[in-house]
Amino acid sequence: MDFCWNHPFGRSITDQYTWEAARLLGRKHRKRTITWSTPFCSQPGDDIGAAFEVVLTSVRQKFTAAVVGGGPAGSTAARYLAQAGVDVVLLEAKQMPRHKTCGGGIVQRAAAALPSNMAIPWQRHCNTAELHVGTEHRFRVTRTAPILSFCSRAELDHELLRAADGAGAHIWSPCSALAVQHQGNRVELVTTEGRFTTEFLIIADGALSPTSLAAGWRHKPLYVPALEWQLFVPDDSLVKFGDAARFDVGTVDPGYGWVFNKGDHLSVGVIGMRHKVGGLKTALARYVESQGITQIRTKIAHGGVVPVARGRAPLVRGRVMLAGDAAGVCDPLVGEGIWGAIQSGELAAKAIINASPNPWQVQEHYESTMGEIVLSELRAARMLARVFYGQPDLRDWLMESFGQELTEALTDVMLGKTTYGDALFSLTHWVRLLGRHLLTKKSAAKTK
Ligand SMILES: Cc1cc2nc3c(=O)[nH]c(=O)nc-3n(C[C@H](O)[C@H](O)[C@H](O)COP(=O)(O)OP(=O)(O)OC[C@H]3O[C@@H](n4cnc5c(N)ncnc54)[C@H](O)[C@@H]3O)c2cc1C
Repeated sequence: MDFCWNHPFGRSITDQYTWEAARLLGRKHRKRTITWSTPFCSQPGDDIGAAFEVVLTSVRQKFTAAVVGGGPAGSTAARYLAQAGVDVVLLEAKQMPRHKTCGGGIVQRAAAALPSNMAIPWQRHCNTAELHVGTEHRFRVTRTAPILSFCSRAELDHELLRAADGAGAHIWSPCSALAVQHQGNRVELVTTEGRFTTEFLIIADGALSPTSLAAGWRHKPLYVPALEWQLFVPDDSLVKFGDAARFDVGTVDPGYGWVFNKGDHLSVGVIGMRHKVGGLKTALARYVESQGITQIRTKIAHGGVVPVARGRAPLVRGRVMLAGDAAGVCDPLVGEGIWGAIQSGELAAKAIINASPNPWQVQEHYESTMGEIVLSELRAARMLARVFYGQPDLRDWLMESFGQELTEALTDVMLGKTTYGDALFSLTHWVRLLGRHLLTKKSAAKTK
């Protein structure tokens, strides 16, 4: 057997497999949550070396496309591929439904990209958003359509995976990808459930993306830290937050805090909008207190990272593509990630559908559509984020002068009525903004 595999963590490949097998077997014995279908771990106490051998020699499954990760990016990719008649397998490490650390706030432009025939388990729709910048500025936007809709990510992701399954994708779960090998006109994938051979591979395994490291990418995406508490509180505390989604810029520096009333509990969190923002836990505790949330029956705390860029790393290597958090496509202004996950999953699938079997054309297709639809949007958001979080004096002046207009414009982006790019670069937009601002000032002066 040839063992020139790329692998994460810099261990020899044998060490890597053994380490993975040991880790997974250990987890099985501790929690008993993993169910195994390969014979190597059907008996507790099996020899790890034997387990390792079975992984290497087990039956090779062949598919036209494979997707690693059953989050919104992976499930969307698998669904589009299956709908187009492509023989696709999706590998998900965890037993679904699984927990995913997330505020569960789905902006309208992401919600609109979900399958129309899917029964989405929404907890609440939210037509009002409130933006507080420091203690001085408060802006409120109400629209007839929901700006944000709330869900439990475990349920949403489970439904999306079922939609992929319903479209004809083969789902292997739980099944972890361990190593990736590029081999001429195919890609080989070693997993906890045996070996897979595929023509194209989409890696959508989330923010830390171990599979992209295994496939030869040298770095993880660039990410910022976030912390979320699910707070189960008495009804009067829930009612206090009403129907509005609340955002407080400056809760962490740089970054913001949020409060979502999800019906039976509050999702309260903070996100630092720079790579190394410390003190999140203290900032969140202070934020909760400042919101007058004192009677907490149950608190469930989770932390995670939000990948806001991939630096200069390519999105495609040979026949392997990155999508979702693995591609670093979260919004660098607001930290929202589901829109980018769904878009990139769909575009990766469409590149395979429209341009295979030629890998160069698939690569070109994916890079150009991602550049046009997703990356240009993130670039514009990044420019805004630089001002918003990096230049507090300029931000405060802008918010004082145009705060309501800017909040309306941001809402339009979240609704999918416009894009960051259009809002930022369209001269007419700025002229209109200035005109509206001057008119408001004039009428305010008259009433005085
Ligand atoms: C605290 C916090 C709050 C957030 N709040 C929001 C919000 O309110 N709204 C919003 O839009 N975004 C939010 N985000 C971001 C959002 O959660 C992500 O952008 C989104 O989940 C990305 O989806 P994905 O499909 O790329 O990855 P994921 O949803 O992370 O899915 C990746 C999947 O891959 C699987 N996997 C991992 N490794 C392997 C492997 N080796 N083999 C097989 N499978 C594997 C994982 O089990 C997982 O199921 C938040 C993030 C954080 C950290």
